[in-house]
Amino acid sequence: MKALIRVTGAVQGVGYRPFVAELANKYELRGEVKNLGGIVEITAEGDGDKISSFADELRTNSPSGSIVLRVSLDYSKCNEPEGQIDHSGFRIVESSGEFDKNYLPVFPPDIGICPTCMKELLDKKDRRYRYPLISCASCGPRFSILKELPYDRETTTMDVFSMCPVCEKEYRSGRRRHAQTISCHDCGPQIVFRSGNDGDFFEKEDALSQATRVIRDGGIIGIKGIGGYQLAASPYNYDTVKRLRLLKGREQKPFAVMFDSVRKIEQFCFVSELEKKYLESSARPIVLLDKKEDPFAENVCGDSRQIGGFLPSSGVHRLLTLELSELIVTSGNISGEPMITDDTVFADKFMDSIDGILYYERDILRPLDDSVLQIYRSEDGYECPRFIRRARGYVPLPMFLEKPLKDKILYEAYGADLKNSFAIGFGDRIIQSQFFGDMEDYSVLKLQRNELPEFEKIFRTDNLSTEKKIAISDMHPGYHSAVLADEAGGERLKIQHHHAHIGSVMAENALTECIGVAFDGTGYGTDNTIWGSEFLICRSGDFERAGHFKSVRIAGSDEAMKNAEISAFCYLYDSGIDIPDHILNESEKGLLKAALQNNINVHKSSGMGRLFDAVSCILGVCNYNSYEGECAIKLQNKAEDYLKSRKSDDIVKNLPISELIRINYDNEEYIPDMQKLLGYLTDNANRKDTGMLAYAFHNVIAQITLRVCLKLREMTGLNSICLSGGVFTNRVLLSLCERLLVNDGFVVYYNRVFPTNDQGISAGQIYLADLKEKLN
Ligand SMILES: [Zn+2]
Ligand SMILES: [Zn+2]
Repeated sequence: MKALIRVTGAVQGVGYRPFVAELANKYELRGEVKNLGGIVEITAEGDGDKISSFADELRTNSPSGSIVLRVSLDYSKCNEPEGQIDHSGFRIVESSGEFDKNYLPVFPPDIGICPTCMKELLDKKDRRYRYPLISCASCGPRFSILKELPYDRETTTMDVFSMCPVCEKEYRSGRRRHAQTISCHDCGPQIVFRSGNDGDFFEKEDALSQATRVIRDGGIIGIKGIGGYQLAASPYNYDTVKRLRLLKGREQKPFAVMFDSVRKIEQFCFVSELEKKYLESSARPIVLLDKKEDPFAENVCGDSRQIGGFLPSSGVHRLLTLELSELIVTSGNISGEPMITDDTVFADKFMDSIDGILYYERDILRPLDDSVLQIYRSEDGYECPRFIRRARGYVPLPMFLEKPLKDKILYEAYGADLKNSFAIGFGDRIIQSQFFGDMEDYSVLKLQRNELPEFEKIFRTDNLSTEKKIAISDMHPGYHSAVLADEAGGERLKIQHHHAHIGSVMAENALTECIGVAFDGTGYGTDNTIWGSEFLICRSGDFERAGHFKSVRIAGSDEAMKNAEISAFCYLYDSGIDIPDHILNESEKGLLKAALQNNINVHKSSGMGRLFDAVSCILGVCNYNSYEGECAIKLQNKAEDYLKSRKSDDIVKNLPISELIRINYDNEEYIPDMQKLLGYLTDNANRKDTGMLAYAFHNVIAQITLRVCLKLREMTGLNSICLSGGVFTNRVLLSLCERLLVNDGFVVYYNRVFPTNDQGISAGQIYLADLKEKLN
């Protein structure tokens, strides 16, 4: 029997074909395996049962670093002439280097050190014993060192290192066959420590022991990681952490901690099977985990309920954690600026203020921050990952679309401005760039401006068979990303911010219509006001705004983003509620009142983020965002505490939820009014349990969401709901909305591939632009 098997995913540059050949031998199959633009195609001939077991194993087993998305098995399509297959056994067809004009190539992201390399690293008898840059065909840096395709030694920054005879031999067969990052103590890049004290240089083992000593003594060092420079310090030393915060300009946002093993993490955090799977995955993301106990200095995680934990992604990190166990590892930059990849730039910026730099001489071509995700658990126990930042370990993996984009169009989406990313789309896939950050910062803007042409070069967009290019941006006239899109040439399209959020969920689920609920910080609306709590009827790339929370006039735009007292004041003032004493002093109140009355520096906003800030402040939970979302996160924590301390069925009974819900219908839009809810929360802030009130607030928002969705279903017949926007990072709100909507028969979707925050927008822009194009 003969079959054609197609494996779709990140299966190139990871030693996938040798893996297939080995597996084919195990099942005694003849045939061949070849790369075809993002797909590995296998022709297998042999016993029918064995072919099907072989395909099953391809579905469940794959080499470290590869990501298999689809395995198709087809007996009928396999009608090549007999002679094409080498009957003596199984053949690996060499890549021709030719590109398929119909596909964006698939290239793997940087791959965390694999178990076998990890073993070799600590095996005294191995020739790479304690070689910090150890890698193989299935692990090591990939995208961060790639100049262009095809992936070869010469097209990476490994090109300046010539292989020693032993490495050269290993390059020809075995588990380092064609491993472009192959190197060793004799021929590869070597680790160096430059002491901050006296500028002395230490090499190899001395470098590692000096770096370890400095951290143990309470010092801060720079480490050249895979995707850029990082800063590392002990999490047990309060003064060191304080110094690190000053150095980075990072007030209170918790630091991520690198651990030596999952077993170690489990001492301090709850780790589910799925969380473990992600921690140990080849991407090695930071996973936000619920704390069991917090052994660290109090200024590492502060009063956060979670610890951002992760495992070593390279030999350098592994050798450090081996000695030091836990280690703060954070990006080596000033907060808000991009990660630094250049040795000189990093040294110029930090050498005087830190205690040493551990680095090596291989260049990094593009910054890739550590990815951050958390596992979301719905009430019925379903678990899935939700990205907060998608970068190292995931980018540039494409998302494969169930239905391809319109033929011969290259889409380039420029995203929004905060937490930005861009994306390119062609054929059956969308490739989203790494997280860049806030485009207000000139260095972030410059980085994105440089990286898009790099993507175009690597993915050979010029080579694709295209008839036109469409450049897509947000509608906001002041966004820097929109200016970049203007400069791009080709057709130009603008997509409304919250519509794009919903588009990112529609893309993940191949939807062409839905009711979209976008709860977000801010985004520019079609009526030139700031939107942020939107109910949208989305059909074929267009939308209708069918509802939104009441717009409130907010004074002091920039300051109001951080200072929740301003948001609280404006919301209460709008509802005609007396402002409690703990919110602003008398003269500040007077100034704000005057500003609102005279319309000075005032804008209208329906942003859900501001409402969460306001409530967090009214309840006395948090009144200042020292990092984005702080007030909302702390409000969520209070609600969660309440949930945990109560039996589920008496929660709702004790709360006057339905009395607090008021939805007006005005000008064909559903407009929930917050007056009653805010009045209740203000009156009871000092009388009732804060956790209960925080939960009541989340519950009312979810109930309102349900009610508006019910009305919209009645009106349109649509039964699919997409939830997106930064506010849905809030797991209490997401799970409440999901439960209520599902109970009423809705099918509920939310982001699982793209971040629910503004980084996800670029993907949504492409998907919606394509739905529009398909109408033409
Ligand atoms: Zn390896
Ligand atoms: Zn070598």
